[in-house]
Amino acid sequence: IKKIAVLTSGGDAPGMNAALRAVVLAAEHYGLQVLAFRHGYKGLLENDAVPLVAQDVLHILQYSGTIIKSARCPEFKTDEAAKKAAENLQNNDIDALVVIGGDGSFRGAEHLSHHWNGQIIGVPGTIDNDLYGTDATIGFATAVSIAMDALDKIRDTAEAMDRVFIVEVMGREAGFIGLSSTMASGAERMILPELQREKPLTIAALVKHIERVKKVRGESSYVMVLSEHQWPGGAVALAEQLEAEYHLPCRPCLLGHIQRGGSPAAADRILAAQLGVYAIELALQGETLVMSGIQGNKAVATPLPDTWQIDKPLDPNLVHIQHRVFNPVKKNGDA
Ligand code: ATP
Repeated sequence: IKKIAVLTSGGDAPGMNAALRAVVLAAEHYGLQVLAFRHGYKGLLENDAVPLVAQDVLHILQYSGTIIKSARCPEFKTDEAAKKAAENLQNNDIDALVVIGGDGSFRGAEHLSHHWNGQIIGVPGTIDNDLYGTDATIGFATAVSIAMDALDKIRDTAEAMDRVFIVEVMGREAGFIGLSSTMASGAERMILPELQREKPLTIAALVKHIERVKKVRGESSYVMVLSEHQWPGGAVALAEQLEAEYHLPCRPCLLGHIQRGGSPAAADRILAAQLGVYAIELALQGETLVMSGIQGNKAVATPLPDTWQIDKPLDPNLVHIQHRVFNPVKKNGDA
């Protein structure tokens, strides 16, 4: 192969720039040319592309976002769009396409493969960590560290006033950010999609837990981490409910897109380097429709459909530690 294309797609993730840099540097190392399509699949449809050389990406790894821009592009789901994309790839003499993004972007890649016979390699760039086939996705470590930092700050003020706080974090339909930021900050409670699917938390059970924790500890704060979409109306509605119905002084805090910005964590930059370079090596080996991932310190290629079809569970040991070992209220409800 002689020429590859690269794009970043879907929700941006800290470390996407580092991944792009790794792809370009590896391509150049192996004598391949690089064309970057801007704004994800939108740019692929509009043939909005720029050639990239090492010089263009030398000092971008310390910034979040993506210098080639990202986008959501709903129209890419049609056959006409995939055909148009294939035509643009062909006209640009592209042998392999590297897609940096999350599960939606990988579905898009699979869709494209029905109309284009070049190689396609996925690089997992999403804060959600919800892709099977890699221990971590690029952006996850940074998002957790930002949430942890916010939770530490919330604890200071919560503790001063003995308040209950609800901090809402991102994660789509997965609780990886919720679980990790709870553990990293010592929050009293986590409300995660995986746990809600198993046994939805009732407001009565939550209030009981808060009251029991306060009874054991005396004057104290209570901080809970709520994964997005896991309570009707989110953190604001839950806080209002707790305050109005149960007279618990309670404040909501929505972290939102703050979780995607700032300086990418070292772990994300290094992961991006490994996965970006491995993506190019996979292309050189003739692989297609696989994701470049890391499992137990080893680079592993996983078929793209597996990455969203096979469930990636939370670490049960971490859930156990948080729920049982660190829970001041024991299983039978005794304080
Ligand atoms: P994140 O979860 O981190 O936000 P993502 O890659 O999952 O990232 P999505 O918005 O789900 O983000 O998907 C990105 C883009 O991929 C979509 O806007 C669309 O262009 C394309 N895409 C998603 N699903 C499909 C599909 N089934 N067929 C074709 N294209 C798709």
